[in-house]
Amino acid sequence: MDESKRNSVLIVDDQNSNIMALTQILSSDYTIYAAKNGQGAIKAAEKHLPDIILLDILMPEMDGYAVISALKNSEETQNIPVIFITGLSKVDDEEKGLALGAADYITKPFSSGIVKLRVRNQIKMLDQLRIIERLSMIDKLTELPNRRSFDVQLNAEWRRTERERQPVSILFIDLDFFKKYNDTFGHQQGDVALQTMAVYLKKSLKRASDFAARWGGEEFAVLLPNMKPGDSLIIAEQIRKCIEDMEIPCSDKAAAKITASIGINTREYGCSRTIDDFINGADKALYTAKNNGRNRVCHFESSE
Ligand code: GH3
Ligand code: MG
Ligand code: MG
Repeated sequence: MDESKRNSVLIVDDQNSNIMALTQILSSDYTIYAAKNGQGAIKAAEKHLPDIILLDILMPEMDGYAVISALKNSEETQNIPVIFITGLSKVDDEEKGLALGAADYITKPFSSGIVKLRVRNQIKMLDQLRIIERLSMIDKLTELPNRRSFDVQLNAEWRRTERERQPVSILFIDLDFFKKYNDTFGHQQGDVALQTMAVYLKKSLKRASDFAARWGGEEFAVLLPNMKPGDSLIIAEQIRKCIEDMEIPCSDKAAAKITASIGINTREYGCSRTIDDFINGADKALYTAKNNGRNRVCHFESSE
């Protein structure tokens, strides 16, 4: 199996013999990382972001309870499932471990079969969770990222571009007279238009950092980070032209054509505007583009 696609396990134990035994049990199925103390475990968890952590409790200096508490306090590591694997076999110890957020609890001496299966169970749950997360971020009709996904991306880019003193632009793209298109050619043909639009939109964005999403209905949103306002205007114009030129598959030739209006707003570094202002600005620019005759691009600053 491709190494990079394997799930990974971080084994934390102050005794080499335990690390070696667990590595032997798990290394044929997983990429293994190891740490011999609490501090090392936290560092390794942050660095490798393993899929699962097998954590000993009794360790000098920082014990497993302190380690799990630290992991759960950090945004980066809090969702990594932790399985305690420990010589502490009293009910109270187990209850404490589970109360601190452990996913499972295995007592030593451990059986290799049980370790394998319990790790596998956690990985299975993790895989299912990831499928659900992925589906919840995708628009079913167009297979573009959805509004929720766009919000996450916008928040991340907003903070990143601010940190890196870079501008960021947002484009709102709204199909023109789409209600009429639906009324004339049918809702199903409307769906085909939206799907075609998504394909062309993806094609017209060249940089990996550019991000397109279905905002809702017949409205799409694009993020263009690290781009001067003049350049984002050029990209918006290219997208508008690309939509105008695209051929929507249909038996009725009249349904092959559609246009869109685009509103842009740019946040330059140092500007104190909020994300909501930023979005509202693009929305206003879109409204202006519609009022000025549709099938055009309008930038917020020039549209005030
Ligand atoms: P404007 O040029 O001002 O944007 O006019 P418009 O008709 O495009 O705008 P309006 O908001 O009045 O209508 C949007 C239409 O988009 C109405 C709705 O039925 C259609 N729509 C929204 N989502 C979907 C969808 O998933 N599939 C289809 N086929 N149509 C959709
Ligand atoms: Mg519209
Ligand atoms: Mg609309």
